[in-house]
Amino acid sequence: MIRYSAILCIALLCAVGAGSASAAEPPPSETRQVFGTGAIVPIPASIPHEAGDMVDKRIVPDLRWIAQRYPIYVTDGYSGPAPDGGWSGCHGCHVRGSDHYNGLAVDIVPLVPSSTCDAKWTGITRLAHWAEPVQNKPVLPFRWVGYDGDAGHGCGHHLHLSWNHAVAKRYELAEWVEVFPAPGGETGRKPRASQPPKTPKAPRGPSGGLSISRTGGLSPRGD
Ligand SMILES: [Zn+2]
Repeated sequence: MIRYSAILCIALLCAVGAGSASAAEPPPSETRQVFGTGAIVPIPASIPHEAGDMVDKRIVPDLRWIAQRYPIYVTDGYSGPAPDGGWSGCHGCHVRGSDHYNGLAVDIVPLVPSSTCDAKWTGITRLAHWAEPVQNKPVLPFRWVGYDGDAGHGCGHHLHLSWNHAVAKRYELAEWVEVFPAPGGETGRKPRASQPPKTPKAPRGPSGGLSISRTGGLSPRGD
């Protein structure tokens, strides 16, 4: 389903997104763990997204950085009770323990939609390889990357990115979130290498979750 907002974004932004898709970016050279001050917030307009999508604000600078370099469109972020009531994100479409329940994962498709693995996915594939150069070995700050080789994900379906974070219950904010430095990020962050946190370890688990795709033309998988 392509919503009006998506069409509007495409009309305004596809040229910019397509132009930036060719940029080759080095992997994050340094990541930091951001403690506290989390909140579930609407995704800013500078990051193309489906209307109503929200995330933990601590990953917004990273997402903005990515959106400036890759032609992304976020189809789902936080899934859970919205801070102002109601519901944010999809219902019942993510696996148990999904990082979507903590606002620390996003599902991504090309800014120019396509339900088949064609040239429109080139920038998304490049982003996936940037975040996970080797299958099942994502580079920090990413905890789990779902793409080619992962059931329910991949070119023509969607890319899932999870940020590394402290163990947190469903619908609760994580004590810390790992990010890479990006403009607009919070100050006072602790370099990962020099100050290992005395905080809960990141959750172990198979994945950050599955989601339906905006463009896939596929039935919701229910997982
Ligand atoms: Zn996902």
